[in-house]
Amino acid sequence: MIDIAIVGGGPAGLNAGLYAKRGGASVRLFEEMFTGGQIVKTHRVDNYLGFSDGPDGYTLGAAFEQHISKLGLEPDYTPVLKLELSDNRKVLTLPDGQVEAKTVILCMGASPRLLGAKGEDIYSGNGISYCATCDGAFYRDKTVAVIGGGDTAVSDAVYLSALCKKVYIIHRRDALRASELLQQSAFSKPNIEVVWNTTVEEFVGEQSLSGITLKDKLTGEIRTLNIDGAFVAVGIVPRTELIADQLALADDGSIETDKYMETSVKGVFAAGDIRNTPLRQVITACADGAVAASRALELC
Ligand SMILES: Cc1cc2nc3c(=O)[nH]c(=O)nc-3n(C[C@H](O)[C@H](O)[C@H](O)COP(=O)(O)OP(=O)(O)OC[C@H]3O[C@@H](n4cnc5c(N)ncnc54)[C@H](O)[C@@H]3O)c2cc1C
Repeated sequence: MIDIAIVGGGPAGLNAGLYAKRGGASVRLFEEMFTGGQIVKTHRVDNYLGFSDGPDGYTLGAAFEQHISKLGLEPDYTPVLKLELSDNRKVLTLPDGQVEAKTVILCMGASPRLLGAKGEDIYSGNGISYCATCDGAFYRDKTVAVIGGGDTAVSDAVYLSALCKKVYIIHRRDALRASELLQQSAFSKPNIEVVWNTTVEEFVGEQSLSGITLKDKLTGEIRTLNIDGAFVAVGIVPRTELIADQLALADDGSIETDKYMETSVKGVFAAGDIRNTPLRQVITACADGAVAASRALELC
């Protein structure tokens, strides 16, 4: 039996790994794709203290991984398929067997929220993307729309404005929620146009996406905007599918924790975007991971 099992290799999981390893525990960290988590999807992280040059998310994630690797913690690149969590026993099922741990830190993060408009399922991956940094290059010199009005949407639009001929931001309100700096940056780009008070009714096309049907919320007018690609940035959903019936969840589906990041099951912790947190950022995810690991160490 190991002391601490960490599920997820994003900022929360990697920082939990750092603290757990430095605390002398036997630790395994499971990551199903690549370390760095969601941050790998962004081209610039401007708000992580100590990195004033605004590194891209991949570089920051790689720096995190290098740090834990120096301490001798190498992530296991494998998905955790099942979790059985009770006060007395914690078992993780992997593709090639099971691992039992005294404590578990859940850091599975979040995934993009779907818009829910008609046609989204048809054109997802075929004109609709949820990651501008990953897919923006496919739309060089083309016309795209970003749907949303928060930091991610506006940051995506700014990024895409350097690649694309024209970038529309489709926003359902009359003001953006993104930070002032990001808004200034977007408004200074001649090829970004915000379409206010407007919702996407349908994604349309033939073999691939060719347009979106828009509804003006003030006038009720319906029109089709021709675009080559759409980037949906309307929030995230905590990835609680493995534990939904085992732990107490908040109304928004995230995991409830106390101030030590402990969940409703003793010895099971949650850190980062997956938990009921007021701020979903790299710095808060890292901090949660540190708190969770410090407390887990006390139980080992
Ligand atoms: C486009 C974009 C831009 C952003 N820009 C910024 C920014 O500039 N500054 C900032 O501070 N924050 C930014 N954020 C937010 C930040 O990325 C997140 O708050 C942070 O990554 C949360 O970290 P986390 O470790 O909780 O979760 P995540 O980053 O979501 O990591 C979770 C990890 O768990 C893994 N995982 C999930 N399920 C399993 C399983 N069953 N088995 C194994 N592994 C699993 C996933 O593959 C993933 O790697 C941005 C997010 C996005 C999407």
